Amino acid sequence: MEIDLSFSKICMQCGMCCDGTLFTKANIKNREDELLAKSLGLPTFSTSDSKIFFEQPCQLFNKTCTIYDKPRPNCCSKFICEPLQKVRTNEITFNDAENQILLALETRKQVMEMASLITDYKNHTLQQLLTEITPKPCAKILQHKQLFLKIVSLRVLLNKLIQKKS
Ligand code: SF4
Ligand code: SF4
Repeated sequence: MEIDLSFSKICMQCGMCCDGTLFTKANIKNREDELLAKSLGLPTFSTSDSKIFFEQPCQLFNKTCTIYDKPRPNCCSKFICEPLQKVRTNEITFNDAENQILLALETRKQVMEMASLITDYKNHTLQQLLTEITPKPCAKILQHKQLFLKIVSLRVLLNKLIQKKS
């Protein structure tokens, strides 16, 4: 989450870039950040192409970032989601961005509530539910049309937060 007073209120409500909703891992760009992540107790791992990450949901997230006012890796302190980026460049108003983020939060809540009522899905995490439609819908999710459509809506909304084409 970016430290920016005008955005801090919505970020405190949201947390989707730290709680595993938007990302399953956070990219560490340099040695300094790697050492910082390790000193914070964040478990790091590297991929076959030698990129280094720490896991999401972040262990330091508890409703909000618990070290928000302390030194954090660049991927934390520099990140800003797409709607807030567009506010900065005057492409949309803060209200528009806030509505977009709140809609994603509400849709995520609806997905989890709907899944909790279905035996096959009641113990699924959000990422597991998103995987049901990726890369294409599995046969099981197609038997639950309402949930399927709600997950698709959520995927579209989340992609808009990270500028990913749906
Ligand atoms: S996704 Fe956007 S609004 Fe939500 S915490 Fe991250 S930067 Fe803030
Ligand atoms: S350290 Fe804070 S800002 Fe960085 S991923 Fe964890 S909770 Fe988010």
